[in-house]
Amino acid sequence: MKVTEHFAKAKGKTLVSFEVLPPLKGGSMQAIFNTLDVLMDFNPPFIDVTYHREEFIYKVRPSGYYEKTAIRKRPGTVGICAAIMHRYKVDAIPHLICGGFSVEETENALIDLNFLGINNVLALRGDARQFEERFIAHDHGHKYAVDLVRQIQEMNEGHYLDTNIVNGEKTDFCIGVAGYPEKHFESPNFETDLLFTKQKVDAGAHYIVTQMFFDNQKFFDYVAACRAAGIMVPIVPGLKPLTKRYQLNSIPRKFFVNMPKDLVEAAFKAGSEDAVRQIGIEWCIQQSKELKASGVDCLHYYTMGDTETIRQIAEAVA
Ligand code: FAD
Repeated sequence: MKVTEHFAKAKGKTLVSFEVLPPLKGGSMQAIFNTLDVLMDFNPPFIDVTYHREEFIYKVRPSGYYEKTAIRKRPGTVGICAAIMHRYKVDAIPHLICGGFSVEETENALIDLNFLGINNVLALRGDARQFEERFIAHDHGHKYAVDLVRQIQEMNEGHYLDTNIVNGEKTDFCIGVAGYPEKHFESPNFETDLLFTKQKVDAGAHYIVTQMFFDNQKFFDYVAACRAAGIMVPIVPGLKPLTKRYQLNSIPRKFFVNMPKDLVEAAFKAGSEDAVRQIGIEWCIQQSKELKASGVDCLHYYTMGDTETIRQIAEAVA
């Protein structure tokens, strides 16, 4: 079932969904099952699986020179989605990125998803690779997520890259895209970022999932700004709890989001790592409750391998 159909079926009830990461290469699918066996108690209508492109690493050769090698540390997104759907009979949403893909490879990936019966996809640009200053698109790939959305939409209308294909099967993908309540870090300002988000929706995106945020007012203001700009699709808040003291610096650095003063002060004052985690959990529970009371379609939790923390939060909010 499509994400938007899940929301319609819920008739105003706030659903709960989760995002999981593929295990590191060499890891087992059991790690995902161990997470989801616990989180399935909350009846998520769908599970997102992130996509991780190759990264560069530098190996020291016996000569002392460095060898630059590209490796994918977390492959398996599509296989994991298929395994999740098979085991739990729940929808799985692969994240699909522009980075590293030619348009041909994107088309083939979408054909695989269609044949597997996966009809939801989160369309993203992806970030710059490690040691690259900015995002560099594949020579024959997409520069922005909006271009990927357009390609998916073309396939939904039965148009493939090979124009000799007539009467091609129309895919039926429900397309999600990313949104940034605190603006995307590369955008010159909030308004410009919103304009580009609107382009993604106008190109065919059916819903938006937000970057994590710790101040609900940022989300409410974002939704209001989207509506004022004519973006009328469902906007799903993405949530991640603070669980470690070092995240007070690493989360703003990695995700370009701010942490409210009260949360930061409480975490600084906390006497132990466990106390920081408890503060983060309680903060996320309060955020979730307020968002639920505001009538959001879904609370989407980034699990990031911390099943127990997310379980505690989902249980308190249920
Ligand atoms: P875009 O929408 O293309 O925007 C990128 C930047 O370009 C923005 O600053 C935007 O304002 C600007 N822009 C957009 N269109 C244009 C245009 N036409 N002209 C000029 N500027 C433009 N990354 C992964 O690698 N794998 C994942 O699984 C993954 N999952 C994510 C899930 C969520 C919910 C979120 C919020 C992010 C996720 N990311 C993931 C990170 C994401 O790839 C990065 O945030 C990336 O930097 C931007 O992706 P985007 O799809 O928002 O890009």
